[in-house]
Amino acid sequence: MSDTDRAPSSNTASDEDREARDDKIELAKARLDGSPEATTGSTDRPDEPRRPWWQRHLEPGERQRIMGELGIKRQAHWAFRFSTMLALSVVVAVMGLSADSAAVVIGAMLLAPLMQPVLAVAACISMALFRLALRSAGHVVLATEGWTPRLAGHERAIAPVYSLMVATEPLTEEQWARVGLAEREVFSDHGHVVIYGQRTHDDRIAFGGRGAPYHWGSSIRPEFDHDERVFTALHDTLTGLLPQLGGVRFTHAWGGPLGIARDWHPAVTYDRTTRTGRAGGYVGDGVAATNLAGRTLADLVLDRHTARTELPWVGHRSPRWEREPLRWLGINAGLRLADLAEREEARTARPARLGSLLDRLTSH
Ligand SMILES: Cc1cc2nc3c(=O)[nH]c(=O)nc-3n(C[C@H](O)[C@H](O)[C@H](O)COP(=O)(O)OP(=O)(O)OC[C@H]3O[C@@H](n4cnc5c(N)ncnc54)[C@H](O)[C@@H]3O)c2cc1C
Repeated sequence: MSDTDRAPSSNTASDEDREARDDKIELAKARLDGSPEATTGSTDRPDEPRRPWWQRHLEPGERQRIMGELGIKRQAHWAFRFSTMLALSVVVAVMGLSADSAAVVIGAMLLAPLMQPVLAVAACISMALFRLALRSAGHVVLATEGWTPRLAGHERAIAPVYSLMVATEPLTEEQWARVGLAEREVFSDHGHVVIYGQRTHDDRIAFGGRGAPYHWGSSIRPEFDHDERVFTALHDTLTGLLPQLGGVRFTHAWGGPLGIARDWHPAVTYDRTTRTGRAGGYVGDGVAATNLAGRTLADLVLDRHTARTELPWVGHRSPRWEREPLRWLGINAGLRLADLAEREEARTARPARLGSLLDRLTSH
């Protein structure tokens, strides 16, 4: 067959193709416009429920082909564009919040033009406001000690361990003459379970100690401040140390959490970039140590180089505590060991073998 014979039938076929294609394009356009005829057209099943507009679409391949033939460029969905812009705004705002460095701010500003103008302006304003808030806040010092694990991101920085106390009624001059402590001396027995006592301003004896359990997940609750077993033990220990107190009433009992770092090492840190400082981890010896930590932080904030800023706890970073259940098991095992060592020494009147193991666990 010659080319001239084939030509008319080929032209006819391509005309038919073009017509069919144009029909399809028209139908697709009508569907995209949401015309009722088109949506109830032959391709929609009659029993199929009418879908909402955002679900009405052509098959992806068909749509792409038709859009290509119409010369329509593929455009990102508005929801995609919006969420991208929103994400960028959040990035800029967060950068603004955390930034006190020119480099980060410049980076954030470079990101801003990528967004739509209104969002970019909003992001820049919020960034400026955040920076202003940060500046007006001045310096932030985290000094929450035993409560630190409640703060997001600090859950394993400090373990709250409870110390509980009891206090006697005010003693008479005659009772004090028998007890001693005329110079208001503080006292302890330096055993494995920490105890501490002193004469109060209103002539009572305040006496405290550890022994309360560590609570799962570093939790702190008001009811943990009271533990009758520990209060009874404190009462017995004090009257054992000072038998002269026989018959004296105990009128007060209370307690609270103190903070212990994983390496038993207190720390004072300050970050000049974020202007945030931290002091804590005093392992229950914070009455005096907080004063020194406060003055050290003042030096650090004011950029003063002093003998205090040279102390080994400045800039010290303790490792984080283990996750639960290891934390619960480890701390309570340590408390139990201390109790057993205490009993062994009371029984044998010799240093407990468990003592060296405890020393290894709590030294740094
Ligand atoms: C019963 C008991 C007896 C003790 N006896 C002695 C002793 O004899 N000698 C000694 O040296 N030490 C003792 N200690 C330990 C001593 O109390 C602490 O080491 C010391 O108080 C730590 O001081 P601080 O200011 O760092 O923390 P804390 O005194 O614990 O103060 C932390 C503060 O942070 C606040 N806080 C918590 N969360 C937030 C938050 N999200 N936002 C704002 N504020 C928050 C808390 O309300 C609290 O006021 C004892 C502790 C207890 C519980």
